[in-house]
Amino acid sequence: MKLWFYYLFAFFGIILLRYFLLAGGAYWLFYFSANKSFVKQAPPTKFLSWQSVQKDIFLSVIAAIALAICAAIVMTAYDSGATSLYESVDDYGIWYLITSFFGIIFLQDTCYYFLHRAFHHPSLFNFLHQGHHNSKNPTPWTSSALDFPEALIQGLFLVAIVFTIPLHITVLILWLITMTIWALINHLGFELFPNFPQHWLGKWFISSDHHSLHHNYYDRHYGLYFTFWDRLLGTN
Ligand SMILES: [Zn+2]
Ligand SMILES: [Zn+2]
Repeated sequence: MKLWFYYLFAFFGIILLRYFLLAGGAYWLFYFSANKSFVKQAPPTKFLSWQSVQKDIFLSVIAAIALAICAAIVMTAYDSGATSLYESVDDYGIWYLITSFFGIIFLQDTCYYFLHRAFHHPSLFNFLHQGHHNSKNPTPWTSSALDFPEALIQGLFLVAIVFTIPLHITVLILWLITMTIWALINHLGFELFPNFPQHWLGKWFISSDHHSLHHNYYDRHYGLYFTFWDRLLGTN
């Protein structure tokens, strides 16, 4: 139990540090940096509200507690060998390692789509998902702004995976990096590559425009990484 509390505090600090560095860095880079020549479409600064940024930061700190609880569960279990995580590539082979990465991304996208639709049900929305929709014009600060119960559900999804599906430790780390970067891109508030959503390949990926629309219109674009489920079920 002592170790669990040690992990809890350590991960709370790491998650917060990651948030302030990445969300703060992206916010500064795309919204305030003097040299924005690399940005083709300007961020919607005229709609910026410092009040909603403050609310997003507050919720992200709350969400960090939920995520740290889940990370501490994983690490304590990993130490005692209770998870399905593995360290030697030879255990399952290189093809399993590659397939498991893409498989886990698809699985998460699928679960997220249906959970996200459930979060928008009137009986759950206020309790689970309202906080994330505080900002009608999302910024990188919104990327981790989740109500405590929603953050806990997302964290427990990760816990369930590491207890049931064998993942190489590098796959887990790559997966965490992918979801962090994707959350930032989805919440940029403007399209970094405006032509990409029209591209034959690009239209299969959730972009900043999709997710910005979702923050205003609750009946479309529920996906996390891909537009697959939105297209199939008429919410695109
Ligand atoms: Zn939503
Ligand atoms: Zn969002």
